[in-house]
Amino acid sequence: MFCFQCEQTTRETGCITRGVCEKDPTCAALQDLIVEACKGIGMYAHRARVLGVTDDVIDAYIPEALFATVTQVNFDAERTRQILIHLAELTARAQSLYESACKNAGREAESLAGATQWMDGEDLQSMVARGDLVSIKTHYDENSEDIVSLQEILMYGLKGMVAYAYHARVQGVEDADIDAYVLETLDYLTHDDHTIDDLVAQCMKCGEMNLKVMEMLDRGNTTSYGHPEPTSIRVEPVKGKAIAVSGHELKSLYEVLEQTEGKGINVYTHGELLPALAYPAFKKFNHLVGNYGGAWMRQRTEFADFPGAVLVTTNCIQLPNDSYKDRLFTCGPTAWEGVTHISDGDYTPVIEAALAAEGFSEDGPDEEITIGFARNTVMSVADKVIDAVKAGAIKSFFLIGGCDGAKTGRNYYTELAEAVPNDSVILTLGCGKYRFHRHDFGDIGGIPRLLDLGQCNDAYSAIQIAAALADAFGTDVNGLPLSLNVSWYEQKAVSILLSLLHLGIKNIRLGPSLPEFISPNVLNFLVEQFNIGPVTTVEEDMKAIAG
Ligand code: SF4
Ligand code: SF4
Repeated sequence: MFCFQCEQTTRETGCITRGVCEKDPTCAALQDLIVEACKGIGMYAHRARVLGVTDDVIDAYIPEALFATVTQVNFDAERTRQILIHLAELTARAQSLYESACKNAGREAESLAGATQWMDGEDLQSMVARGDLVSIKTHYDENSEDIVSLQEILMYGLKGMVAYAYHARVQGVEDADIDAYVLETLDYLTHDDHTIDDLVAQCMKCGEMNLKVMEMLDRGNTTSYGHPEPTSIRVEPVKGKAIAVSGHELKSLYEVLEQTEGKGINVYTHGELLPALAYPAFKKFNHLVGNYGGAWMRQRTEFADFPGAVLVTTNCIQLPNDSYKDRLFTCGPTAWEGVTHISDGDYTPVIEAALAAEGFSEDGPDEEITIGFARNTVMSVADKVIDAVKAGAIKSFFLIGGCDGAKTGRNYYTELAEAVPNDSVILTLGCGKYRFHRHDFGDIGGIPRLLDLGQCNDAYSAIQIAAALADAFGTDVNGLPLSLNVSWYEQKAVSILLSLLHLGIKNIRLGPSLPEFISPNVLNFLVEQFNIGPVTTVEEDMKAIAG
C-alpha cells in the first residue's frame, strides 16, 4: 500500500505497511481501486454529457463512492467490495450511455482503455490485486514528482468537494454544473499530458467549484433546519439512558431524535455534530441535552466511558475498542468491519443498545458554552463589529480553525488561542476548537471574543463573514486585520484550502505540518504566489502577525 493523503501520514515514506489511521493494505488497495473505477466511469459519463446525455444514478453515486476513500471514513473491506461491484455496474451503464449518445449524434464512439478497464473479478483477492496496480506510487513511474503532487492535490480537493456535495445531496440540494465538473475532472485525471500550469489552473478551478458546493451545503442545512443562533449548550452529561451521535451528518442526527422521542433516552452530539445544537429545528427536541466529549481522536476513551450507544455518521472514525464495539454503529459512508451499519434509516438497533446500556447514573456539573455564530448571526451584528473595529476596541481577528488530530504539535493551536491579545476576536470552526472552546475568552463590548462558526463543513460561513468585513472596510480579505491559521487533517481541508487560494487569499499559516503530497517546487510556487507558510512557534508567529 501507499497513502499520503492526510496530515498524520508517516513522514517521508507515506503509509506503506499500515495506515497511521489503521487502514490496512486490503482497504488501501480497494480504495485506490474505487478512485480508478470512478475515473473510468468519468471517462464515459463525461463524454456522454458533452453529447447532452446525463444520468442521475451515476451523478449521485460517484460522490458517495469517493467519500468512502476519504481519511477515516470506511474501514470495512466487504462493504468496500460491494461499492466496487456497484461501480462495475455503473461502468457498464456509463459505457452504454456514451455509446448510445454517440449513435444518436451520428458519431463513432471512441474505444476507451485505461481506467475503464479496472475490473478483473468480483472476489476480494482479484480486487485487491487490481487495486495494488493503480496505487498512487505507480503514478511516479510515469510522471515527475511535481506533476504527481499537483494531480494528488486535485484528487484530494475533488474528494473533499464530493464529501460536501454528498452532504448537500442528503439535504436535497444538487447542481448539474457540479455533477458535470466532477465527471470532467475524473476524466481529466486519466490524461497523462498535463503541464504544471494546466494542473495549477485545474486546482484553482476545483477551489472555485468547491466554494459553490459549500454554498449548496449551507443552503441545504439552513433551509432544512433554520439559521444557527447563539445558544448556550450543556457540555456535561445528564442522568439517564444515552445516545451520542458523531460525525458531520445533521440529517442522521435529526432522524435519531425523531425516533427516540418519548423513549426516555437523552441524545448528545459528539465531535463535529456539536454545532447542530444551535439550529432552531434541533432545539425543539427536549431530549437533545447537549454535547458529550471532544474531537475524534479521543473516541477510544470517550466512547469506552460513554454508558450508552454511539452512532458515527461520517469521518472521523477511530479503531474501536472491544469494550464498546457492540454498542457502536455507523451509517452513511462510514463503516468499520465488525461494527453494525445502519443503511435504511431505521435506528432501532441503536435505540435498543442505548436502552440495554447503563446510562449515566447522575448529572455532571452544570457547565455550558456558547455556540452558533454562523454567518447569519455575525452579519446581523456586523454594524456593531464594524463600529468596534473603527473605535479601536477590536484590533484584529484570528481565524483558528480546521481539523484536530492526535499529534503533540497540535498544542500549537491551544497556545495560539490563549496568546491572542484581549483586543482581538477569535473565529473558529471544525473540531480543532475542542482544544480551547471551554476557555472563557470574555467579550469586547458585548461581542464574544470566541465566535464558534460551526463544523469544518461550515467554512462557507467563515468566507462570507470575511468577505462582508472586507466589503465594509472597502478592502479585500487580504487587507483585513485578519490572520488565518488553518489546521488541516484530511481531504475536505484540501478543498477548503483550494477555495481560499481561488479567492486570492494570502498569508495562510498551515499546520501542524505541511502536506507530504506537496513537492518542494509546488510548495515554492504556493509561497511565491500566496505567501502560504507553515506554522512555526506561537511566539514567532504572534510577532509576525503583529508586524
Ligand atoms: S489516510 Fe492518512 S493515515 Fe490513513 S493510510 Fe492514508 S495517509 Fe496514512
Ligand atoms: S474537522 Fe476534520 S478531523 Fe475533525 S472530524 Fe471533521 S473531518 Fe475529522
